[in-house]
Amino acid sequence: MAASSLYKTQELKIYNSISGQKEVFTPITEGNIGMYVCGPTVYSNVHLGNCRTFISFDLIFRYLKHLDYKVRYVRNITDAGHLENDADEGEDKVAKKARLEQLEPMEIVQRYTLDFHQVMDKFNAFPPSIEPTATGHIIEQIEIIKTIIDNGFAYESNGSIYFDVQKFNKTNHYGKLSGRNLEDMIANTRELSAQSDKKNPQDFALWKKADPQHIMRWPSPWSDGFPGWHLECTVMSTKYLGERFDIHGGGMDLKFPHHECEIAQGEAACGQTPVNYWMHANMLTLNGKKMSKSTGNTISPEELFSGNNDILNKAFDPAIVRFFMLQAHYRSILDFSNDALEASEKGYHKLMEAIQTNKSITPDQETTGFNVQAWRQECYNAMNDDFNSPILIAKLFDAVKFINTIKEQKTTISAEDHQLLSKTISAFVFDVLGLVNANETSSDIGDKLSGTVDLLINLRAEARINKDFATSDKIRDKLLEIGIQLKDGREGTSFSIN
Ligand code: AMP
Ligand code: ZN
Repeated sequence: MAASSLYKTQELKIYNSISGQKEVFTPITEGNIGMYVCGPTVYSNVHLGNCRTFISFDLIFRYLKHLDYKVRYVRNITDAGHLENDADEGEDKVAKKARLEQLEPMEIVQRYTLDFHQVMDKFNAFPPSIEPTATGHIIEQIEIIKTIIDNGFAYESNGSIYFDVQKFNKTNHYGKLSGRNLEDMIANTRELSAQSDKKNPQDFALWKKADPQHIMRWPSPWSDGFPGWHLECTVMSTKYLGERFDIHGGGMDLKFPHHECEIAQGEAACGQTPVNYWMHANMLTLNGKKMSKSTGNTISPEELFSGNNDILNKAFDPAIVRFFMLQAHYRSILDFSNDALEASEKGYHKLMEAIQTNKSITPDQETTGFNVQAWRQECYNAMNDDFNSPILIAKLFDAVKFINTIKEQKTTISAEDHQLLSKTISAFVFDVLGLVNANETSSDIGDKLSGTVDLLINLRAEARINKDFATSDKIRDKLLEIGIQLKDGREGTSFSIN
């Protein structure tokens, strides 16, 4: 690793959900990070709540990369095994949607995976390094079940395999992530229903025998069936990141039972706990209640970008929505409202305007009224403190204030400091926060395009004057091929985009 790697000079602390404390982050292998984040269940369009969690982890991914870590970021697609009510009984969410829409389950998976990718792209979120699917890892899931059975932590019952939580808890602690203990869980759970195959209510399915009407099924040594929801993440995280890896993330609501079960499966299969740092992103709420598909208390990214909904007065650009989300720390609840978004929009424009102003600043002999070096480190300190993006944004606004005082000629900046200030703002605003300049994307790109076409029109005119018709025709024809039509008129040549 290059001697200049930033992580060597910055001490990053991460709030580890399992210890309940901020801990100094040390990766297993110096310079490298393995990070797994639970991805979406692709049975409907993602809502803004889901997006918040993925944007939170995009911020984390971006900052780790910014610190010069080599990050392998694995985020799965759940396309089988996730049953209604997150339980061990009921219909598969994907299969149910397929039945209702009279489509193949894989058509449902394809449609909503595509939607998810398009939405993440609009939010300028980086794709993960690997995006594995549950259905693509059935063989590995069967293999790990065999290992868990061999190690004595699972049992077969009528063609289904269940994880034996009580047995596991004799040697390990089931509940350590969510701060529970098995005795309390036993005291607080209802009796098993008569038709249940489980020995105890806390046991969870590793493999479920499929009912005759269950269409998403695969052969296994035990039955034609499907894997339990928690298993895919254990399999895909350990396959791509190793039996023990650095960071595992997801929404707060996945802590129990999903992540608790992942820990149990990992320990039962591999004899060691799978994850060093557990990270949980907090919820986006609407009118104080968790945004959730099952209650219908949602707003979709499309409704937000188009303004086509009953909650908002107007449409909002994805960059502004992203900025709104990053103004809250990822571990705090964020309530969605029109007023909050409008406030973010103002702040966002103020920031972008200052970035524009900064470009036209003429440096002076020395810097007055601001310590650029110290400010830069404060920006790092904010992010080093468990990715505190709201504090970082406050620091960026300190720079905005400074830039505006330079413009008003109340302060000055040296050439060296100006370079450092510009570089730092750009790194944090665009690389780390992942904001884009929404004004630039539309009008500036338009300006750049017409400037480029005007240049080609002039070159074509010169070629015609020189009787080089081969070149002039080539310019016209090639532009037409890409949908730009030149029109020669009395006033000169103009163009239209088809
Ligand atoms: P799902 O598709 O339901 O499996 O959820 C995908 C991700 O979105 C999980 O990490 C959930 O924790 C997260 N999530 C669901 N609802 C919300 C919400 N209202 N706010 C933030 N994250 C959420
Ligand atoms: Zn998961």
